[in-house]
Amino acid sequence: MEDCIFCKIANKEVPAKILYEDEWVIAFPDIHPITPVHILVIPRKHIESINDLTDNEENEKIMGRLIMAAREIAFNENIAEDGYKLLIRTGKDGGQEVPHIHLHLLGGGRMKENIGVVGR
Ligand code: AMP
Ligand code: ZN
Repeated sequence: MEDCIFCKIANKEVPAKILYEDEWVIAFPDIHPITPVHILVIPRKHIESINDLTDNEENEKIMGRLIMAAREIAFNENIAEDGYKLLIRTGKDGGQEVPHIHLHLLGGGRMKENIGVVGR
């Protein structure tokens, strides 16, 4: 997908510190971390959001790999035992800014429980 920053990172057209990659997904640090460990795991394939996931085996595989990769990275980053938070924003109300599915792996300290609604 042209002009998608995450596709460019996945294709190595834009440099990033790749922390994990397999056939399906790739992971790199968030450029504006909000927690001591803040890593994004993305599918190699351009899929805008969870809303765009047609119900098929390939998409099941991709979404499964996102979680399995996050789990492996959590162990590599030594946050698995203490715990972490996984977050996928979707659309405007979800606060999604980059229209290419990404799973946030957040850890390195006790998470604030500050989820709520501020309006529309
Ligand atoms: P979201 O609001 O869930 O769409 O999150 C988008 C995230 O992507 C934000 O946390 C940004 O800091 C992050 N981000 C945007 N551009 C880049 C980039 N070039 N490299 C790494 N992270 C990025
Ligand atoms: Zn993309």
